[in-house]
Amino acid sequence: MKRKEFIRNTVLATVGATGVLACNNSQQEEVNAPNVISNKKYSWKMVTTWPPNFPVLGEAANLFAQWMNEVTGGRVEIKVYGGGELVPALESFGAVSSGIIEFGCGAPYYWAGKAPASQFFCAVPFGMNAQQITAWMIGGEGEGYKLWKELYGAFNLVPFLGGNTGVQMGGWFNKEINSLDDLTDLKMRIPGLAGKVLKKAGGTAVLVPGSEIYIGLERGVIDATEWIGPYHDYKMGFYKVAKYYYTPGWHEPGAQLEFFMNKKKHDSLPKDIQAAIMSVSLRVQSWVLAEFDAQNGIYLEKLIKEEGVQLRKFPTEVLSQLRSHTKDALSDLAASDPMSKKVYESYEGFMKRLGKWSELTEKAYYNDVQVLKDSFLK
Ligand code: CA
Repeated sequence: MKRKEFIRNTVLATVGATGVLACNNSQQEEVNAPNVISNKKYSWKMVTTWPPNFPVLGEAANLFAQWMNEVTGGRVEIKVYGGGELVPALESFGAVSSGIIEFGCGAPYYWAGKAPASQFFCAVPFGMNAQQITAWMIGGEGEGYKLWKELYGAFNLVPFLGGNTGVQMGGWFNKEINSLDDLTDLKMRIPGLAGKVLKKAGGTAVLVPGSEIYIGLERGVIDATEWIGPYHDYKMGFYKVAKYYYTPGWHEPGAQLEFFMNKKKHDSLPKDIQAAIMSVSLRVQSWVLAEFDAQNGIYLEKLIKEEGVQLRKFPTEVLSQLRSHTKDALSDLAASDPMSKKVYESYEGFMKRLGKWSELTEKAYYNDVQVLKDSFLK
């Protein structure tokens, strides 16, 4: 066997062929490049935007570190820090960008103030779900991932997929939402682009840190909040202070999460370590969604059967109005920032094309095939 071929096969065996084959063409080339596997060891820090060991999200950061260590035969050690342990949660981006820290873990829309286009790589109201975002990122030409690398490259960062929440719940409300009028004067904890949409609908988006949402709802400082889904919402205890649990999460059809590495440090790594990072990130991407789905099924049942939570569905008319406000909010964003315009065009084009396929398959399957006799939705 020729040397180049031997090394390539070794790398594939080391990092797991599935992950590598799932990468787009540019990543494939990196793996094919000649490389000498050395015993050099790397000791890195990872700062996250989550509380330490936070269910699923913090656990995903820990798993990334564990799997990197395993897959490199102990050559890479990553110490994971919760938000605020080393740097404040929302300074992770800057800390990794400057090179003080090697790795970060968060959600791209946290950096909207620095890079407005980052929101397209995370969650767009009425946008793509987890499966569709993954297709945009690493399917076909990897169009989404190329744009994401371009955006983060300007900040001396390389982004990696770090999991997806799947479609979230619409949130907890203390009154029923029967028409758009019910959103007028509604004070809701809802972040990012969705907050702008709610504002266009006449409501008020309030910024409340996670730790203060419960007390805000209890004291009537806010009338409603969104968080994630049954698993996390149960742990936050929202069912004790809000009457109605709404679906679907029009505002976050699947929040894409991330790891990001200092680009200068990443680019100086041997190719096998770079390939390991890519493969482990794709393993985390799969695990996070799987864990969310598995736990959400269990906790949804708990909320309804044990806690008597009242489930409600947003009326079609309300969703249709919110969709129209979302289009305006996205146009505003595209008009205010050239990179957002460029990413929006790719995102929208991809979603339109893929949506036609999803309609014939996923949607038709849920609507007409996997019909539940004992659905929680009346
Ligand atoms: Ca959320």
